[in-house]
Amino acid sequence: MTIFLGTFLDTPHDPFAGGELRAETEGALLVRDGVIVERGAAQQLRADHPEEETVDLSGGLVLPGFVDTHVHFPQVRMIGALGMPLLDWLEHSTLPEEARLADPTYAEGVATDFLHGLVSAGTTSALVFGAHYPDAVDVLFTQASQIGVRITSGLVVSDRILRPDLLTSVESAYDEGLALAQRWHGVGRNRYAVTPRFSLSCSDGLLESCAALLDAVEGSWFTTHINENAAEVTAVRDLFDDCDHYLSSYHRHGLVRPGSVYAHNVHATGPELEIMAERQAWAAHCPTSNAALGSGMFPLKEHLAHGVGVAMGSDVGGGTGFSLLKEGLQAYFLQQLLADRGYALGPAHLLHLVTAAGAAALGLADQVGDFSLGKQFDAVWLCPAPGSPLDVGIANADGPAHALAKTFTMGTPADVAGVFIAGVPVGTMR
Ligand SMILES: [Zn+2]
Repeated sequence: MTIFLGTFLDTPHDPFAGGELRAETEGALLVRDGVIVERGAAQQLRADHPEEETVDLSGGLVLPGFVDTHVHFPQVRMIGALGMPLLDWLEHSTLPEEARLADPTYAEGVATDFLHGLVSAGTTSALVFGAHYPDAVDVLFTQASQIGVRITSGLVVSDRILRPDLLTSVESAYDEGLALAQRWHGVGRNRYAVTPRFSLSCSDGLLESCAALLDAVEGSWFTTHINENAAEVTAVRDLFDDCDHYLSSYHRHGLVRPGSVYAHNVHATGPELEIMAERQAWAAHCPTSNAALGSGMFPLKEHLAHGVGVAMGSDVGGGTGFSLLKEGLQAYFLQQLLADRGYALGPAHLLHLVTAAGAAALGLADQVGDFSLGKQFDAVWLCPAPGSPLDVGIANADGPAHALAKTFTMGTPADVAGVFIAGVPVGTMR
């Protein structure tokens, strides 16, 4: 057993439903086989277990490991392609890079870069858009298994509109997806996600095969894009002229269900939100991507009013990096800019969005997302360099919530001093 010492902050009770930030200042967690078995004041816990090893994470804050519910493995090397709206950005910047993953050796390098970026930002669980090539998805799962990070991912499929070398057929999509799921779903911490790119690039036949694969692989997840950009929404409407709205293109194939996570949903309509709420589908809010691509302002209030679950995604490489602290801050900015139409997010909301909400969206809430007894000890230790503005800010904070607000405002991956998954260090310890 190990006693972890530090200031532990989490949100076991949803702040959007009246819950408050929980803070264990000068606290301790006793972890056995990766699971939190006792928590309390450091002095007391150490006195009760004098023989146990201690790991000192004091100085700064310890937060639950971040959960990224929308991030693209093949796009790590093209973060920062600014200046284009979605469809141009896809054609000129993103898809040429995604096509390079046809080469498994290239994919190995990308997977290494991707997983390093993910974990060093403090992310311990992620729903990952895989590659269009099965060998590249194998590479991702292989490397993720070596690190121990909790990855839910799958083969990205499309059968129209994109460049020809990214297209598949209905049969190959099903067969290759099933083979990958049989190799990886439920193996270690890996799970399979059925992943059509977006209905713009997917025929009805392909979406139907996605639903069949989802049914065939018990406990598999579903993710895709929706309502990201106005031109994309119009193009989908033109292609699916028998659909009421974008969501119908998925819903009529049974793809809106518990275990489905829809990225963006910036231009959601009321009827779509009603269906998502009723079917318990989640939205992955990706605010830096939405700003960088000029996609629009996420209607958080409307999602909450309809009862649609919202978690956060970095959307690398449309987003501007792996840090979910930055995504939290950008979400806050955006809601501020929406004024009366925005939701006044506080630090506990931001922490919840990047931890417990993500865990719930991925069906992992019984395992991770907060530091309650019985949960796995997945954690990120943020300990800024002495004398840095964040260090000064935390030292002078008026309580834990204030310290957390400063961390969302100024924290970066450079402030991550340690990352733990099931009690095992996976990132830098300094
Ligand atoms: Zn995306």
